[in-house]
Amino acid sequence: MSVFTKFKLLPEVAQFLANGPIPGFVGGKNYPATGGALIPTIDPGSGEKIGDIHDMTAADVAGAVDTANRAFPAWAELSQKDRGAILLKLADAVEARKAVIAQIESLEAGKIEAQAQGDVRNFVDTLRYFVKLAEGVQTRTKLDIAGHEAWTHKAPWGACGFIFPWNFPFLLIGWGISPALASGNTVVIKPAEDTSLSAIYLARLAKEVGVPDGVINVVTGRGQTAGAALSANPKIKRMSFTGSPEVGQLVAESCGRNLVPVKLELGGKGAAVVFDDVDVNAVADKLVGAITFHTGQVCCDATRWFVHSKIYDQFIDRCKQTLDKVKIGHPLDPTSQMGPVVNPKQRARVLGYQEKGQATGAQCIYGGGAATVQGCDGNYVKPALLTGPLDNVAAREEIFGPVAFVAKFETEDQAIAMANDTEYGLANSVWTADHARAARVAEAMVAGNSWINAHNVFAHGVPYGGVKKSGLGGGVLSPEVLMDYYRSTSVVRPI
Ligand code: NAD
Repeated sequence: MSVFTKFKLLPEVAQFLANGPIPGFVGGKNYPATGGALIPTIDPGSGEKIGDIHDMTAADVAGAVDTANRAFPAWAELSQKDRGAILLKLADAVEARKAVIAQIESLEAGKIEAQAQGDVRNFVDTLRYFVKLAEGVQTRTKLDIAGHEAWTHKAPWGACGFIFPWNFPFLLIGWGISPALASGNTVVIKPAEDTSLSAIYLARLAKEVGVPDGVINVVTGRGQTAGAALSANPKIKRMSFTGSPEVGQLVAESCGRNLVPVKLELGGKGAAVVFDDVDVNAVADKLVGAITFHTGQVCCDATRWFVHSKIYDQFIDRCKQTLDKVKIGHPLDPTSQMGPVVNPKQRARVLGYQEKGQATGAQCIYGGGAATVQGCDGNYVKPALLTGPLDNVAAREEIFGPVAFVAKFETEDQAIAMANDTEYGLANSVWTADHARAARVAEAMVAGNSWINAHNVFAHGVPYGGVKKSGLGGGVLSPEVLMDYYRSTSVVRPI
């Protein structure tokens, strides 16, 4: 039975998908690819095609960048209040269409529908947060320098480029473009080829609520062509990339050649350090929740669990019991707790790491392998717990699926060393009732983010970014990020 009949699609979603291939959106208009090549969008939960997007050429992308640069002066010249009012209308419209956008996102990304609604909510909060923050920015700051009248003047840059991955398509667009738009820049978005629909829906909605043409542009297509063309375009004034470290390096190289400032938000291999003074069952449940949330396709996930030897056995037993109860199913089935991974390639990657890990000395102590869901030919996998030597490939590399590597520790120093023995540096957590120890360990773990007695915590105003192989350029979600979207001119008059 087709996904369109098995699950009740909202009329607006069905209509959005019904009109044939869905072009990009540039300059306030549909923007088809030159040559008309298409890329199918597949529902990861059923394997069914739900639509097609356009596979744009480098020339198509260059045209979009020119459009965004042409729209820039008028957008930048608006008063902060007027620009903010337009963006708040967009936030209201997204809020009003939350169910529609979430269902589109659920269908293309394989995301549990309720979680997709949370992502849309987060987009709205992010946009409102940056609009409010931008209202308080002083674009002229007087400098008290003897013998000189001096000040700095801040102005937006121009057209900014954004390349996004498939795991949080809509939420990450919000994190990326909100500070850029609020400060007066225009944007060109290149979503992932598997998950471009919600971005196109957003651009159309922006037009509907009066965002001027050319301020929000969406180009679609493959990374190696459309993505590469965007990051290599010398007319982009700032670039932001969220995705894998391997592609992040390519994007940084391209931007480096043009001396375009670039921000990279990359992968992770986060640790959770669990001491013996915690409520063991509660922590086990939360960490199970972390790896099953969006089927483990979360950059900041805790995928290396270091557990004090005194509680290790109880902890593992509880994890197994809790994992047994996780219901795997289609993302639009309201009883599902864990959906599929995004595409067959990702499923092969997750299963491949389990096989490679076990072939080189890891043991699987729970689950693993492919999962089947009655009546849905999607990309389902079972959650898995592995253990073994920490130099194992499954303990060192980002798997991006519902898989954790578990090990025991005895001392605080040992736990910190284990957490830090990684090329990544995105997010870790420490779990203990001892607040002084929590603070010590949180600061000693080398990463952009340390969470205490929680994992995956995002509050607007707390900077989120990575170090080492996990990122470059200052992260997202904070006042500092807003300031990245202003260039600064020092103005000096000797007196
Ligand atoms: P990916 O790097 O394969 O693709 C990301 C984007 O880059 C896609 O839009 C893709 O089309 C584009 N792309 C591919 N090749 C390109 C090229 N040569 N030039 C320019 N663009 C190109 O990543 P993915 O598989 O979509 O996403 C998973 C990765 O993203 C994981 O490593 C995950 O940890 C990371 N991620 C990081 C964060 C964060 O905030 N740090 C958030 C989400 C995902």
